Amino acid sequence: MIRTRFAPSPTGNMHIGNLRSALFAYLIAKHYEGEFILRLEDTDQNRYELGAEEFIYKVLELFGLEYDEGPNKNEKYGPYVQSERLDIYKKYAEYLIREGYAYYCFCNQTEINEERMKAEEENRTFLYPGTCRDLPLDEVKKRIANGEKYVIRQKIPKEGTTSYRDLVYGDIRVENSNLEDNILIKSNGYPTYNFANVVDDALMNITHVTRGNEYLSSTPKYVLLYDALRFDTPKFIHLPLLIKKDGSKISKRNKEDNLLQLIHDGFLPSAILNYIALLGWSPKTNQEFFTLEELIENFDISGIQKNPAVYDIQKLKWFNHHYIIKMSDSDYLEYIRPFLEKVYDLENREKYWIDTLLLSYKNHLSFGKEIVLFTHLFFQKEIEFDENAILYIKKNGLNPSFLEIYKTEFSKINNWQISFIQQTLDIIEKRTQLAKERLYMELRILLSGTMHGIDLATLIYLLGKKVIIIRLEEQL
Ligand code: GLU
Repeated sequence: MIRTRFAPSPTGNMHIGNLRSALFAYLIAKHYEGEFILRLEDTDQNRYELGAEEFIYKVLELFGLEYDEGPNKNEKYGPYVQSERLDIYKKYAEYLIREGYAYYCFCNQTEINEERMKAEEENRTFLYPGTCRDLPLDEVKKRIANGEKYVIRQKIPKEGTTSYRDLVYGDIRVENSNLEDNILIKSNGYPTYNFANVVDDALMNITHVTRGNEYLSSTPKYVLLYDALRFDTPKFIHLPLLIKKDGSKISKRNKEDNLLQLIHDGFLPSAILNYIALLGWSPKTNQEFFTLEELIENFDISGIQKNPAVYDIQKLKWFNHHYIIKMSDSDYLEYIRPFLEKVYDLENREKYWIDTLLLSYKNHLSFGKEIVLFTHLFFQKEIEFDENAILYIKKNGLNPSFLEIYKTEFSKINNWQISFIQQTLDIIEKRTQLAKERLYMELRILLSGTMHGIDLATLIYLLGKKVIIIRLEEQL
């Protein structure tokens, strides 16, 4: 039975990279009829953000990534929140010390960090020099009894190599001399990721550890820990790096990367999920659109790629557009109306008018919030002409007698309906003898200020008789 886990740190809103980790872990488990586990990695108390935990639950629910075990759910191997497991880490760390795989370190960690930073600035690698590695047991005991602060470090063998096989990246082998004696337990008693991930993945029976490839090179240290603790080593699946089109990193601080922001802006969970499934995984066929069920069916570990995957907001918009146009009209109206309501006053507008407005733009939208921009012209008093529209009119001129015809014909309509407006357009076409394209463009510009938009009769209907007549009069 395959068991995977998603192990987010509650350090703020999730970005699309975090969701991809969750999705891939979920798909691997579900494709092979296994179990998907949620574990909260909250041991970095400095980075803890209030509300972040709730957001993780909400996101998993919204995207339909149901976990089989997690905080407050089937806690077979619980607790599933790391800060509630401190005794467990302590017990295993003490075992490692007894067996010679770890040691107490009394060095001033602030000074060590300063040295590390200096080395980084100078482009040198820095490894903790192992000052406390071989302290005599009596001395250790005395210093602890004296209340000296300490951390617990992993004792990496000085010689030899450590290797493992990653299911995506193949064989990874490192010289032990290049590995640092990591901190396993910090001076505040909390474990580091480097220790907790091993203990938890082992105790929670995780068979396939799926995570970002930033952990690819530290995994040999974890393999040494699995061995020292006499745990079975799981299989490792490191996921390719996610980068932006300009080569920059994904960050929750960027609007385009932040899940909460994307959802607020009206990107649909099904579209986001579909798109990010393809960031680092390629299906065996040319199929591009997948529901979650189809992803479960088709996802396979061998389709995961090594090369960095490029996250492109334009491509996400394209996917989202596809999902919007595939919605039923009633689902679409329910989804889109709140975006309009938030910004414009709809109190005196009839439901039919609002629905017609929203439906006219269904095929134009790539995300919900865009509706505000598209429909702006129906809510402002003044008409704004854009540059191209002005150029068009300048080039083609306006015939005052035609303007008179437009006004007269539109004034005649008593029943302001799209079908009657269309009939009137046909009459105007006959009376002016203008080519249809030319006529429609001229009217579109005169009435809406721009050369593009929705069906002309619908546009005229939505603007309303009063506005149409005023705008034509202004030109006379
Ligand atoms: N808590 C880690 C993170 O958010 C999880 C990495 C992992 O999946 O092991 O980066």
